[in-house]
Amino acid sequence: MSPIIIGSGPAGYTAAIYLGRSGHKATIIEGLQPGGQLTTTTIVENFPGFPDGVDANQLMDNMRRQAVNCGAEIMHNSVVKADLSQQPYTLTLDNGSVLSADVLIIATGATAKYLGLSDEQKYQGMGVSACATCDGFFYRRKTVGVVGGGDTACEEATYLAGLCEKVYLIVRKPYLRATQAMQQRVMDNDKIEILFETNVTGLYGDDGVEGAHLVHRKGEADEHTSDLPISGLFLAIGHKPNSDLFKPWINTDEQGYIITDGPTPLTNLPGVFAAGDVADPLYRQAINAAASGCRAAMEAIKYMKE
Ligand code: NDP
Repeated sequence: MSPIIIGSGPAGYTAAIYLGRSGHKATIIEGLQPGGQLTTTTIVENFPGFPDGVDANQLMDNMRRQAVNCGAEIMHNSVVKADLSQQPYTLTLDNGSVLSADVLIIATGATAKYLGLSDEQKYQGMGVSACATCDGFFYRRKTVGVVGGGDTACEEATYLAGLCEKVYLIVRKPYLRATQAMQQRVMDNDKIEILFETNVTGLYGDDGVEGAHLVHRKGEADEHTSDLPISGLFLAIGHKPNSDLFKPWINTDEQGYIITDGPTPLTNLPGVFAAGDVADPLYRQAINAAASGCRAAMEAIKYMKE
């Protein structure tokens, strides 16, 4: 019985390492973004074991090689269709081939939402980020913007205010959506200035982000534009868990995060385990994803033994 891991972020690779070391060679279906979300950042300084930081792509490549050394087979494909109506579960890949397995680990991650501006791509890793905890450190004593008005945006703005000289919270509505306590924390912070009814329309800068083009009160009689000098722009407008393929069979919450049985990786289906950001609306850090990959593998091993 060969388990299949869907996804190649820290959760997927860690699950493969643990499975391999217990004698189960896993197949990893790598997906569209080999290495996962971490490959969109630069240096990782909060993953234990690397006192001087580590290049994010190097870290993921190391995990990948470790998984392969433990016997994992990596397929450079994506799953385009799943049928989890009965065991063995079947997965159709983008090359048309069909795989089946009694044990699946879903580690497909989540995708940060972006505004959809071409400048976001142009300055990715050069001033544009969707993770303050990952990248905030690079903006110490600088001025940054955070887009969004929910809990994530308020949390990220508060976190960044501890590092940066000034943080602009750029909110498209005339109010924040975040919980009252989060809002209060932001309002009480002298370093955070909220720009309500404001949208980012573009970014500028020769060698990385030097500022953002803004439009205020869009569509109103007094609509006007301005430029805001900032060194970094953090998107905090939500994440989308990559669970759509599995939703007909796997229980998810209203945002699409896979619901697991308490702190375990068990889903509502026998032999199907969830690991990493696809099942984690709160902590979304590589180290947590890796840890949940370990848990998923341990449960999968127990399941296969039984
Ligand atoms: P939310 O969906 O709650 O908020 C997204 C924010 O981004 C909203 O203010 C929304 O504006 C704004 N937004 C969305 N699209 C755009 C756009 N195109 N341009 C500009 N602004 C945009 O997402 P969060 O990630 O903040 O939170 C997700 C869930 O996780 C929530 O349930 C939250 O409570 C929870 N969470 C809890 C935390 C905690 O308890 N510590 C920490 C972080 C998250 P608008 O209001 O206009 O739609």
